[in-house]
Amino acid sequence: MNRELLEKVCNTPGIPGYEDAIQDVAREFLDGVCDEVSRDRVGNVIGIKRSTNPPTNGDRPLRVILAAHADEIGMMVKHIDGDGFIRFQAVGGLNPQVLVSQRVIIHGRNKINGVIVPRRKDPVPALEEMLIDVGLPRETVCNSIEVGDIITFAQELVELNDKVYMGRNFDNRIGTYCLLDTMAQLDSASVDVYAVSTVQEELGVRGMPMAAYAIEPDMGLALDGSLTWGAHIPKHEHLCALGEGTGIYIMDRLTVGDRRLVQFLFDLCEKNGIAYQRNIGGGTDASAIQRTKSGALSTTVGAPVRYMHSTVQLCHEDDIEATVALLKVFLEHAHELLP
Ligand SMILES: [Zn+2]
Repeated sequence: MNRELLEKVCNTPGIPGYEDAIQDVAREFLDGVCDEVSRDRVGNVIGIKRSTNPPTNGDRPLRVILAAHADEIGMMVKHIDGDGFIRFQAVGGLNPQVLVSQRVIIHGRNKINGVIVPRRKDPVPALEEMLIDVGLPRETVCNSIEVGDIITFAQELVELNDKVYMGRNFDNRIGTYCLLDTMAQLDSASVDVYAVSTVQEELGVRGMPMAAYAIEPDMGLALDGSLTWGAHIPKHEHLCALGEGTGIYIMDRLTVGDRRLVQFLFDLCEKNGIAYQRNIGGGTDASAIQRTKSGALSTTVGAPVRYMHSTVQLCHEDDIEATVALLKVFLEHAHELLP
């Protein structure tokens, strides 16, 4: 595993609509491993790696998308009160239960550290009942912070042990990592591969539709996390287990995975000894790949992520490696699915 790359993508911020820093990382990396790279008007980064084995009958190679959303859930400054406390707005689905006492960084004129505190002593206060305290007088706060400044969690990547990592944004930095590492390792492909680092997925799949429309894919995979059981999450709700292989989505809230594609992925795992798990997930960029132009075969693949949409998510190195292994073998064989 490329630890340096994992650290770089996980420690680079990018909340929905403000993905510039992480998109710069994606673009720079893809520049080194793709035939061409561009960025569209809404911010999606698209790297193309042409087929090394195009059809001999003159047909164009199939177009296959691998897409990982670059945004992570975060917050935005909404109001500064008379005492210099900051009210904030969630950007993406944030569970209030995980917020109290979290350290945050406000990206204002300069970076300002703060902590989320409850406004009342309720057991689990609503988001509207929380403030950010930056420990500065109101005047100083107002000189460096404005309404609309973005806020991220002050959680960098941590290695819990030799296999398990903790981070604030494995949904979806694990997808980003798998996308970039797969493209770096890809020696041959039977199809034209479009590596897309998308924007604003967490607000309801807002970036992928434009990229998919422009690419007009034959098939595609969203790379995201797979919901994983954990301390307070029962196994019948979040199906995947940490360390037991990549998750292949059969369906989620927005998409029924194409049955031929899902079976094809299962078969590739079986034939190549890649650990995998059947998953029913939350809702991903796969929906926009599937329903563009005249339609494409689509589903989602992703390493299990425990405590998604929390600020302390866990992932397992073996699952990341299984995901990259599956993506590589998929791109080598994808033409067999739609001959
Ligand atoms: Zn996600």
